[in-house]
Amino acid sequence: MSVLVVGSVALDTIENQFGKADDSPGGSALYFSSAASFFSPVNVVGVVGTDFDFKIINFLKNRDVDLNGIYIEEGKTFRWGGKYHLDINKRDTTFTDLNVFQNFKPTIPKAYQNSKYVFLANIDPELQLKVLDQINDPNLVVLDTMNFWISSKKAIVEEVIKRSDIIILNDEETREFTGNPNLLSAGKEILSLGPKYLIIKKGEHGAVLLGENSFFTTPAFPLELVKDPTGAGDSFAGGFVGYLAREKNMDKTTLRKAVVYGSVIASFNVEDFSFNKLILLTENDIQKRFEKMREITQIE
Ligand code: AMP
Repeated sequence: MSVLVVGSVALDTIENQFGKADDSPGGSALYFSSAASFFSPVNVVGVVGTDFDFKIINFLKNRDVDLNGIYIEEGKTFRWGGKYHLDINKRDTTFTDLNVFQNFKPTIPKAYQNSKYVFLANIDPELQLKVLDQINDPNLVVLDTMNFWISSKKAIVEEVIKRSDIIILNDEETREFTGNPNLLSAGKEILSLGPKYLIIKKGEHGAVLLGENSFFTTPAFPLELVKDPTGAGDSFAGGFVGYLAREKNMDKTTLRKAVVYGSVIASFNVEDFSFNKLILLTENDIQKRFEKMREITQIE
């Protein structure tokens, strides 16, 4: 079953102790697609400027990612810069040049309007609502957002949460949204707004899947080298939603496996800049790491 993603398509400039990447392909929609396409076909809606060279994302076409919903507008592509600290979990945004992204009003092509699996990547929550208005009868809506929208448009973020089935936030965003320092009870507050599940990402400490009466947690895959954490959240979401769309099922085991597949794909993503690692990855690599996760979390 295909997945629809609406989000940013970017050229990122990343700096950290391992080097610098200039104008390399990034953005939430592309990180998501690179990951989800291991499991399901993906339809992408986004915008780029006339300077965007589609050749740099050719690998996505070979993975059944439909890029026909990426609009090309006169002007420059969205650019974002991030500089990581020695503690690679911390970063500063060095610049955000919205360019053509500034006036992005996602129109969902007719062919995608019956999508059953929808991922609302991190964009303005007002636009996320407009996207939902154009989808006919989705089975599953998964939502991502960020601190910026929580602090500037909280009421609208709340509206999108009410119309979504699964929310993916990190620990900081969960606390900021609720004002509650305890993640578990903060998570329950978010669930009381209506979604079935909340996933709380905790970076190198893994992720939690919280339902009204259920709790699951997985560690992050242990890595000795994290080269570039950019897009970890979106590649996690890609693995998670892509797997659910492939299985067409939301039972307890499938959901848990989806969280682990999300963590596995994110762990590969952070081993190199941009999507370099995901381009070369094989299904066998993913499966091996999934089995390793099973082994390291088993008690007996
Ligand atoms: P993450 O590491 O999960 O925060 O995702 C990083 C990606 O998000 C980068 O590839 C950026 O291009 C993209 N990004 C950064 N800021 C924004 C924004 N304001 N809106 C949409 N995408 C963004």
